Amino acid sequence: MRRLIACALCVLCAAAFAPHAQAYLKLGTRANGRLVTLQWRTFPIRYFVTNRGVAGVSAPQLEATVERAFATWDGVQGASLSSQFAGFTSASPLDDDSVSVIGFVNRPDLDRVLGSTSFTFDVVSGEVVESDIFFNSSFPWSVSASGETNRFDLESIALHEIGHLHGLGHSALGETELRAGGRRVLSAEAVMFPIAFSAGTTIGRTLRADDIAGILDLYATADERRQTGSISGRITKNGSGVAGAHVIAFNPASGKLVAGFTQANDGSFVIAGLEPGVHVLRVEPLDDGDVESFFDASVNVDVNFKPAFSTRLIVVPRGGTARNADITVVAK
Ligand SMILES: [Zn+2]
Repeated sequence: MRRLIACALCVLCAAAFAPHAQAYLKLGTRANGRLVTLQWRTFPIRYFVTNRGVAGVSAPQLEATVERAFATWDGVQGASLSSQFAGFTSASPLDDDSVSVIGFVNRPDLDRVLGSTSFTFDVVSGEVVESDIFFNSSFPWSVSASGETNRFDLESIALHEIGHLHGLGHSALGETELRAGGRRVLSAEAVMFPIAFSAGTTIGRTLRADDIAGILDLYATADERRQTGSISGRITKNGSGVAGAHVIAFNPASGKLVAGFTQANDGSFVIAGLEPGVHVLRVEPLDDGDVESFFDASVNVDVNFKPAFSTRLIVVPRGGTARNADITVVAK
């Protein structure tokens, strides 16, 4: 049995997808009442690149850029990931053909979508059979080393989409402001933030602590899992669990931010892939950007509460879990 889902990076909003309830927000689906995490099991991940370029980006430049973005994820220390360029193809990223294809597609109708990732996977095991990425050629693109004014940096967007291809959902570690014409990103502490930086910048080529924790959550080696730790707890309001709360772990020693969500009605959360040591925990409502970028309609996201901190410092043990990191919030 196979099923197709899609996830998109947009300038303004993103397509809905089904998140899986665990530590980092991962992609997945519900099969026979069970949550199945989307994951690659066969390595290297072999992908084809379309043999068509667009204005400013030739097909070989497209290939080289995609290869660099894969190499950035493959280079995460402690993750067992590898990828391989399989060749150029005339197939479309939109074909369901059991071959992973990455390339440009002209979709002027999707005027807020820079790129999109879709999957075909085994709904029982969650193993990905195929994942395609398209970049919307109705936007202006750049592969310049330092970026180009008014053009979107292809490597930055490829890095985000390849994060989805690996099975990662969106991170909420970013701030935006609403301006005429849409939301503008003020800052983002994750490549997996659903709204892209403005055209011209290449800031999105570098993975942040949150992205690394997410990929380690899915693909860490056994040795790496013994080196990192996690935090678990519950977010409650008036004695009941809060669903869809954004929970952020801050490590004052390293300055790293790693976040997760409460994904069930009981308000429970797990944040994994953390460096051992002292963390400060903060919870805030998911009120920056579109809730649909993070959760599908089945999660009853509560945004009516004030941000709050844990009343104690949380010490993450090496290879273990700091439990009962509970926070009580109050309505706005
Ligand atoms: Zn995305």
